[in-house]
Order: sequence, then structure tokens, then C-alpha cells
Amino acid sequence: MDFLSTPELLDIDRQHVWHPYAAMPNPLPMFPVKSAQGVYLELEDGRRLVDGMSSWWTCIHGYGHPRLNQAAKDQIDRMAHVMFGGLTHQPAVQLAQQLIRLTPEPLQHVFFCDSGSVAVEVAMKMAIQYWFNLGQPQKNQFLTIRNGYHGDIFAAMSVCDPVNGMHHLFHDVLRQQFFADAPQIGFEQPWDKADIDSLAQLLEQHHHEIGAVIFEPVVQGAGGMRFYNPEYVRCARELCDQYDVLLILDEIATGFGRSGRMFACEYADISPDILCLGKALTGGFMSLAATLTTKRVSDAFAQGEAGVLMHGPTFMGNPLACAVALESIAVLEASDWPGQVSAIADQLKADLAPCRALPAVRDVRVLGAIGVVELHEPVDMATVQPQVVKAGAWLRPFGRLLYTMPPYIISTNELRVITRAIHGVCVSLSGG
Ligand SMILES: *Cc1c(COP(=O)(O)O)cnc(C)c1O
Repeated sequence: MDFLSTPELLDIDRQHVWHPYAAMPNPLPMFPVKSAQGVYLELEDGRRLVDGMSSWWTCIHGYGHPRLNQAAKDQIDRMAHVMFGGLTHQPAVQLAQQLIRLTPEPLQHVFFCDSGSVAVEVAMKMAIQYWFNLGQPQKNQFLTIRNGYHGDIFAAMSVCDPVNGMHHLFHDVLRQQFFADAPQIGFEQPWDKADIDSLAQLLEQHHHEIGAVIFEPVVQGAGGMRFYNPEYVRCARELCDQYDVLLILDEIATGFGRSGRMFACEYADISPDILCLGKALTGGFMSLAATLTTKRVSDAFAQGEAGVLMHGPTFMGNPLACAVALESIAVLEASDWPGQVSAIADQLKADLAPCRALPAVRDVRVLGAIGVVELHEPVDMATVQPQVVKAGAWLRPFGRLLYTMPPYIISTNELRVITRAIHGVCVSLSGG
């Protein structure tokens, strides 16, 4: 590969390359990255930024981890990819074994797919086919909670928050689902079971049509960065059992330690019928996701009329991605990640506390290695993004949310670069 000059790169990018949630041509500033190492992104102009985003929750061990790089190189020399229809291999089978060991005991079967959104699509399809197999095809709707985020493909979008997810744009093509009020009781606040009334009522009224309840346990990510009481998750599990509805938990963002537990459902001490994993699964190396299910769900496929699960992506079980994921799990388990995550939580709480007093700030909240400053007004990306970069940090605010979920290996001083940048933005927005 020959390299373009930076002005050329930026010009072609602006004219021809679509970025996430962007217009074309892209009017916003763009920062070219040359390389990444540890918690640092190195820009083409030589500036080094402390990454407060872990590349959207993925890069938990930092960039260029020698063990992950080596696992990828070793696997490339054996095979980068083979089809998964009729063939199987060490990386996929061993990764399935590890995921079954790490997740709650009832989850015994693993479906590998390309991305988080597809893992959600597969979960929803599984639920629909499950009820079809049991002779109840009318149970093909979903119940979710507001402020959720489950991905950008149509099935996943139909269960994203109707406002954040811009459902008005897609009204005629999106399946209409049921939406319960979002939980209001915070992670540490005393539980009141009235918080789950809305979900309970919708289940009572519509359980004949509902195949599954789907939501993100304890931490709602891109739909609002909200933390809520684990009792909600436990009660939702009970209600699903009571009304004979499956429970799908989306731990694509929360999985692999981010919330302070390996999986956020551990706070509620329950198991879903179907679990979606993605994001940090490969330690930020490449796209891979998985949908896990119980024997109860998969048994229905052995007996039912639609005997097979109708899904099979071309790159299913990609050996390279599975090999890196296996190594990432080994690196995670060999580390003191609970200690690292709780140290990050403590520092985020202390460092972000002064933001609370600023007039632009509505709320400050921290859970595990996730720190959120909610503002009164949406930020202007065109000014805030360069301001953050100038402070030596990489953050990607959206709407009224300034937030960070750094790599677990971040040091106290490096995390201080992030929290100072956040505080600096809050001061500017407060007119200081
Ligand atoms: C990011 C995310 C998804 C979508 O994953 P992609 O890999 O972007 O398709 C789904 N659910 C949750 C909770 C997520 O955070």
C-alpha cells in the first residue's frame, strides 16, 4: 500500500467516504489516525491522544496488545478464513467452549455472527422460530424498554428507542413493537417494584403476541447511557417466566467486565434464554459477535416444523476473529480486571464530581469503567471535538452526553487526561 499525503487523504475522505451517522460530503472535522498503541491513538501529524472510548467499548486491553497480535499472526499462517457450512475448526469450537464456561450455566449453544446488530437479529429470529416450532406463530412481537439501543439493522432498530432511533423516518418499514417505560430507579437507589409496572402491564395485556422481551441489563448504552437497578432485571426474568415469554439480554456493550461484573446480568443473578455478545469479544481487534441460547430454546429446533435456524452468514465463525477472541479472553482472565475496573470507577467518581456543580451539567454518573456527564443541551460536535483533541484526549460525545469507557489498562495519569478534557468542556459550556 502506498500512502496518501494527509491533505489528499482528508480530501478524498470528505468527498467519498461515508462515516458513522454522517452526512455526505462530511462537514465535520476529521482526524486521521496513523497508528494506535496501548491507550494512545497517534494522529498523522504526530499528536498522541489518550483514547477514552476504547473504540466504542471494544478495545479493553488497549491497542496492539502483543498477545492478541501474535494470536492473529499465528492464525493467519494456518488459515484466515474457511466457510462454516459443513466445516469446523479449533478456534470456533474452543471459543464456544469458553463462552459457555463464562456465561450463566443455562446458556449452552453458541451462534457466531459478524456484528452486534446481526447477533440481535439472530436472537429475534430464534425467538420467532422458537414459538413457530411450538405451534404458536402468533408470538412474533417483541417487548422492550425505552432508551434502549440494539443496532442499526431493521430488526434491531425496531426495538431501539423510538425517539433516539428516529423511528419516524422509518415508520412504514419498521415492525411495530411494544415499549415499556425505561427504568427510573438508579443502580444504587432503593428498589421499588413500581418501576417495572409498565413492563408488567404490557406483558399481562399482550403476552399472547409477544415472543420475547429484549433489553440491555443494568446499563443502557447508546440509547442514553443510563444505569438502573439490577432488581429490574431480576423482576423482568420472573415476569417472563410467569407469562411464558423468552428473555433476550443484549450484553454487546456490557459484556467482558465493563460494568464491573463479567456480564451485567450477574448483578441480578439471573440467566436469559438468549444472550447477545459482541464489541469487546475480540478485544477491539475485529468484528465478531455471538448469540448464546439455552437447551430449552435450541431443543425446539430439533422437534419443530422449521427444523433449522434460518441464518448462516458467509463469514460465520471466522477463524481469525475466533482465535483473537480466545486470546482476548485469556488475557482478560490473566489480568486483575475487577481491580482495574473498580480503580477506574473510583477515579471517575472523584475526578468527575466537580462537573456536577457546573450550570451546563445535568447529571454525573459512573458504573464500572463507564463515566457519563449528561448536559442540559446537546453539544456542538464541530467545536467540542477539536477542544477535546486539543486537551490530548479522544472522546466522541453524542447529543447531551459526554462520556468515557477507557481501556482497562489505563493509568491514573492517562485517565486524568480524559477527565480533565471532560471537565474542560463542561466549564466552557457553562460560560467559564
Ligand atoms: C453496539 C451495540 C449493538 C450493535 O453492534 P454492532 O456491532 O455495531 O452491530 C447492539 N447492542 C448494543 C447494546 C450495542 O451497544
